[in-house]
Amino acid sequence: MKPAKSGAKPGAKPESRLAMVRRARRINRELAELYPYAHPELDFRNPFELLVATVLSAQTTDLRVNQTTPALFAAYPTPEDMAAAVPEELEELIRPTGFFRAKTKSLIGLSAALRDRFGGEVPGRLADLVTLPGVGRKTANVVLGNAFGVPGITVDTHFGRLVRRWKWTEQEDPEKVEAEIAAIFPKSEWTMLSHRVVFHGRRICHARKPACGACPIAPLCPAYGEGETDPEKARKLLKYEMGGQPGQRLSPPADYPGKPAPALGAG
Ligand code: SF4
Repeated sequence: MKPAKSGAKPGAKPESRLAMVRRARRINRELAELYPYAHPELDFRNPFELLVATVLSAQTTDLRVNQTTPALFAAYPTPEDMAAAVPEELEELIRPTGFFRAKTKSLIGLSAALRDRFGGEVPGRLADLVTLPGVGRKTANVVLGNAFGVPGITVDTHFGRLVRRWKWTEQEDPEKVEAEIAAIFPKSEWTMLSHRVVFHGRRICHARKPACGACPIAPLCPAYGEGETDPEKARKLLKYEMGGQPGQRLSPPADYPGKPAPALGAG
């Protein structure tokens, strides 16, 4: 795999804005070919389940959330049910996701708000979603993008790390990252771009040891060489379907080429 043509060589001319935008769009196209099945990695069947799962996903893995929510949604299928939960009982069900006391407070509070202010339905507007307890801009964008088809960029730890590696932005603050990336891509790409970048961060471009030697976008990446460049060794670093391992969803979409995740306690 050859190193990047742009931005990497010492003494090379700085990349122009236009060249960066072209390179960014090309990376997005390559990622679309690499992950045509990219999707949110939380299991959900309706906007309420997605909202709850996204709140639970703070400070834990999507896998752990997906292993926890089947029992949770069996016990409390609607906002009305969850608003009326006995806090200690709800805490026990979500304990595996960590920070379970604070998350219980958020879930009961947001369910009560949905019941009392939104007729028991999850609202489809950012301005309404962020008024719910425990729901910030990131959670709201996940819900809007994936349950309502409203384009949104979701800046999580993977997304921020990768777009800085690719020199699409130097910002650290998630809201500023969101604004700068939004200026590079048409709105219609925002939601899928978010999934593709996160997929790449989880499978190939890891935080500590990116698998550069097995990365199809290496020729477009200014950070090529930050990780393992030996193709054989790099291949061993690949995760999930790329490495033949189970994914994060217990119920992945039909086109997902990997194996579903195991239920809690099953592996
Ligand atoms: S794995 Fe390496 S080459 Fe690929 S995007 Fe990450 S840093 Fe760049």
